[in-house]
Amino acid sequence: MNDGKTLLAWWNDPVDYPWLVGTLAARSALGPLRLLIGLAGASIAVLGAVIAGTPIGPTNPAVTSTIGVAAGIMWALRWWLLPWPGRIESLLLIAAADVLFTVEFLQVPDRLFGAMGALLLVVTGSYLGFFHSARALAVHTAWSLLSVIVFSVRIATGGQDVRLALAVGLLLLAAVVSVLPALQILYWLLRTESLSDPLTALLNRRGLEIRLPRLVQRHPAVCVIAFDIDRFKEVNDTWGHRVGDTVLSGTARRLADAAGRSAVVARTGGEEFVVAAPLGAAAARAEAERLCRAVAEPRSDGVEVTASVGVAVFDGAACPECPRPTPERLLHAADSAMYRAKEAGGNLVVVDELTLPPGHRH
Ligand code: GH3
Ligand code: MG
Ligand code: MG
Repeated sequence: MNDGKTLLAWWNDPVDYPWLVGTLAARSALGPLRLLIGLAGASIAVLGAVIAGTPIGPTNPAVTSTIGVAAGIMWALRWWLLPWPGRIESLLLIAAADVLFTVEFLQVPDRLFGAMGALLLVVTGSYLGFFHSARALAVHTAWSLLSVIVFSVRIATGGQDVRLALAVGLLLLAAVVSVLPALQILYWLLRTESLSDPLTALLNRRGLEIRLPRLVQRHPAVCVIAFDIDRFKEVNDTWGHRVGDTVLSGTARRLADAAGRSAVVARTGGEEFVVAAPLGAAAARAEAERLCRAVAEPRSDGVEVTASVGVAVFDGAACPECPRPTPERLLHAADSAMYRAKEAGGNLVVVDELTLPPGHRH
């Protein structure tokens, strides 16, 4: 991937918030995180209480300090007592905190101290960078930039040296605006890297294990299509490993191009691929046959490639009382069907309809 493509992919990645939260929950990481995030709110409440009514505190203490302290307490209680927020609530909480930080710190009479309030935007920005999209972080960064400018202008117009205002502004800029997008890109790259296959750029098995459950849960009908290239060892033996690699990446590209955007495409092993899509029985067979033909289309280097294809399909509409299969069961059934296609000579599609009674299935 070139630089532009990487940046574009980062920018366009919607970020799977439920998956991120689920992954942290599976590692028992949410409890400590909730404690820390709540603690941030509590410390701001204490800060507000300490300066309220003093010469350092907001000039309109009754209103501004009370709002700050109450918001800090509510924040802490929310994180400590309630379950982890959903995506929208999470975004709203951060947006509210961002606005409150800037507005509150614009009320303190010491303009230098007020500008320090911008540092709190690094805290909310870190959370956003981890849990939310590049676009959400961009909105936050724009707000941070605006806040820094306003804080600096406030210093300059408060009788201080303009150069001091500029220096404070630049210092805050370095902390508030430059670090988080860079960290988010690096973190996004590592996350993406761990779920994709380096040779073909498809999802790897781990990536499939993450994406497949969502597809199975969200759609009434779902099919898993397993591909195993026929006699691939002969391709390596005859043409060499390098050509073998080209065949694998070419096959991956054909599958990804032909399968379309609603499908999940993965390389699950050496010369094995999986395509999962929200399709019922008839459509799944047609799709598998189309993909089987796409794999076997002539190649410019003359290497002949075919695949054995196994399909497992579950159609909830065809059998409302049937329990939904687990992703593992679908993968296993697709694999078994693929082996039957292989035993029958390869370059063939075998379908296993999981909603048919067992006697009618094979
Ligand atoms: P079958 O028709 O029964 O599927 O036979 P096959 O030769 O395709 O299957 P087998 O499992 O015997 O061999 C798979 C081969 O795939 C062996 C291995 O060297 C090759 N292979 C696995 N990963 C890669 C890879 O990344 N690059 C290349 N070039 N070859 C690979
Ligand atoms: Mg194999
Ligand atoms: Mg094979």
